[in-house]
Amino acid sequence: GHLYLKPGPHFSHKLIDPPIFLPHRRVDSSGSMEAFASMIYLALLGLFVVVSGTPSADFLRCAQTQGFGSYVVLPGTSQYTALIQDSWVSNAGWTPVAFFEAPSSNGIKAALKCARQVSVVVCPRSGGHSKMGGSLCNGIVLDLARMNRYQFAQGGTSVVLGAGLPQGELLYHTVKQGPLGKFPPVGECPPVGLPGFMLGGGLIEMDGRYGLGCDNLLQVQYVLANGSQVSASATQNTELFWASCGGGGGYFGVAFGITLRLRDRSPYDRNSYFRYDWGISRAAQVLRAYSSWTLSGGKISLKLKSDFNVIPPVIRAFGVCWEVDSANACEAALNATPVFKVPGRIKRLNQHTTSLLDALKFMSKSGNYGQKIPPPSFTNEVAFLDQLYGAASKSNSVRWANTVSKYNSLPSLTYYQNIVNYCASTGISKSP
Ligand SMILES: Cc1cc2nc3c(=O)[nH]c(=O)nc-3n(C[C@H](O)[C@H](O)[C@H](O)COP(=O)(O)OP(=O)(O)OC[C@H]3O[C@@H](n4cnc5c(N)ncnc54)[C@H](O)[C@@H]3O)c2cc1C
Repeated sequence: GHLYLKPGPHFSHKLIDPPIFLPHRRVDSSGSMEAFASMIYLALLGLFVVVSGTPSADFLRCAQTQGFGSYVVLPGTSQYTALIQDSWVSNAGWTPVAFFEAPSSNGIKAALKCARQVSVVVCPRSGGHSKMGGSLCNGIVLDLARMNRYQFAQGGTSVVLGAGLPQGELLYHTVKQGPLGKFPPVGECPPVGLPGFMLGGGLIEMDGRYGLGCDNLLQVQYVLANGSQVSASATQNTELFWASCGGGGGYFGVAFGITLRLRDRSPYDRNSYFRYDWGISRAAQVLRAYSSWTLSGGKISLKLKSDFNVIPPVIRAFGVCWEVDSANACEAALNATPVFKVPGRIKRLNQHTTSLLDALKFMSKSGNYGQKIPPPSFTNEVAFLDQLYGAASKSNSVRWANTVSKYNSLPSLTYYQNIVNYCASTGISKSP
């Protein structure tokens, strides 16, 4: 969703600037300085022809008059190219009029005012991880990465943070130096931004017990499209607060500040994670029983995945039992849920762990998303956090490039064809 701004009363038609003249200085009879000056003049004139009178130039000029000119990044610069690539989907063909690297809520207001004046759309960008490329557009990309401050509040039970703080960094700072025994209800992909994640709902590993990420929102501070600043909470602007939990980013305003409830770690620091496989012929039964895991009262995180890359192909369940003191207790809890009553399962992994971060590691990329046992040497939380933090500060474009190269080779067409064939053979779908 992009914020569409109608031209305001100050909308002005594009102005033709007077040309730029360089002072001529004759220094020697060869006239080389003069020729040099003429070259610069022509170069600047060329620049002028490209930029002046365009929405980009008009936006820059407006931002300058508002005192925020230095936060504008225009097309044709290496910084602009780098900023485009700093999105999960960076190759969808967007050519933003400009990036605005907002330093403050006043900066956001200025950018909205100028976008209105130039009559272009605005798309806020926080972590840039929209899988639809929603935080790039052909208007002004309001990049909030600079607004990444955080402060623990209310006796260490909540945290107030700027829109630009990625969730991995929040997890890192909370566990490393935040209130003892607390953690933020965030997902495990470090560079995902909190506004996009929270406004869209926010699926987390522990959501069965604590709800979605956005169920832990205490307040969201917005700049609305008309430039006004509002707070939304359970007591203020309650409709907007309701919409902030799942309504999605980019629709109701620019969220620049978030207050989030922190959670107690202790139930999650007693866990056991698991992985089970069934032959693929059991897939329909497993899928039918899948929703039953919610009966566990949120004490089991469970994900399903089919794997046609192994022979014979399998349907795989993996996840974490929370609040258990042993692998046996986990197994007992699993046995009580119908999905695990489907016969023929093969136990691949059931290992007792003690730390929330161990479980997150198993479920995240480090554990190949529930597919591999983290190395036995992994006992050091700080090392894991450093790894998360290191990943978060890497450019998204690197990650994007890796993803593209991965999908160029895997999964293959045969992989999908196998799924389609299988579904057709079982009658799961008549038109695969
Ligand atoms: C690798 C990966 C892993 C993921 N894992 C999970 C997961 O575990 N759980 C889960 O729930 N989701 C997950 N997601 C989905 C993710 O939560 C959404 O894509 C989310 O929108 C990303 O937020 P962002 O701030 O990084 O995105 P952005 O691309 O910056 O923004 C997403 C949308 O919100 C708008 N927006 C951005 N900032 C603001 C703001 N400050 N105010 C108002 N609107 C704004 C944008 O314009 C855009 O429309 C994952 C995505 C990826 C790519």
